[in-house]
Amino acid sequence: MAQRTWSSTVVEHHRLREDLAVVRLIGDVVPFQPGQYVDVSVPQNSRLLRRLSPALPPSQDGKMEFHVKTVPGGWVSGKIVKDTQPGDTWQILDPRGDLSVDVNGPPVVMIAGGTGLAPMRSIILDLAQSPNPPLVYLFFGGRTLRDLYAADMLWLLAHQFPWLQPIPVVEDLTDAGPPDEWFERLGVDIGFGEDHLVEGTLAEVVASYGAFTEHQVLVCGSAAMVRSTRDRLIATGTPAEIIAFDPY
Ligand SMILES: Cc1cc2nc3c(=O)[nH]c(=O)nc-3n(C[C@H](O)[C@H](O)[C@H](O)COP(=O)(O)OP(=O)(O)OC[C@H]3O[C@@H](n4cnc5c(N)ncnc54)[C@H](O)[C@@H]3O)c2cc1C
Repeated sequence: MAQRTWSSTVVEHHRLREDLAVVRLIGDVVPFQPGQYVDVSVPQNSRLLRRLSPALPPSQDGKMEFHVKTVPGGWVSGKIVKDTQPGDTWQILDPRGDLSVDVNGPPVVMIAGGTGLAPMRSIILDLAQSPNPPLVYLFFGGRTLRDLYAADMLWLLAHQFPWLQPIPVVEDLTDAGPPDEWFERLGVDIGFGEDHLVEGTLAEVVASYGAFTEHQVLVCGSAAMVRSTRDRLIATGTPAEIIAFDPY
């Protein structure tokens, strides 16, 4: 059977870092579930499909948002980050993936490395539409403070949603990372103060809380991050069957 393709037009391209952009589109209503990913074809290299995770829940008016990070040497990601323009048309196919939350279920532990935050944000904004969402602990991390590209937005969301507790995790708090003209230009206050920041890898930090047994656990990020986090969670007593994960 022919695969259905939806079309969407870029309306905003925000470069947040040298290697990261947020892209907003409006177009066909794509029938995905919060937490799923889609295949995307972009005009900068239309023959190569790449998987991306919508960062908004499905909307009736066809709004979509993606968070894209450059993979060095990659054929597509760097072009999306650098060259995307309002008016570009993206083709979107084949929503799928198993990251989801039972709104009537136990508390949720989300663990997001880098743009692994995107599907978690889609789920969080969807939960916000229900009358009684479960508690959500969101561990989001990167190597340096600069990698927490959405910290300011999560700080604001946490004030809006009392059931959401974001925990920013940075591998090395003393490492400022390489100079980044986009980051300097934005001059963003990340919201979270020093007493909120936790140092370590996501795997180490999450495992230090002990076993999550009465929880829904979701992990998304690079393949290495997902593997090490799952291994540490299982080693500290979290049952494998309650961990949903999507490696990039
Ligand atoms: C389920 C899923 C959801 C995803 N969602 C997002 C998202 O929301 N935002 C986003 O920015 N990316 C996401 N990705 C990653 C994305 O699909 C691409 O793999 C990534 O953008 C690289 O594409 P590229 O064409 O630039 O690199 P390619 O040309 O495909 O690869 C170039 C080189 O980089 C290596 N490589 C490919 N991907 C990665 C990676 N992720 N980390 C390290 N090395 C890699 C390849 O092995 C190859 O050697 C997701 C991936 C999956 C599987």
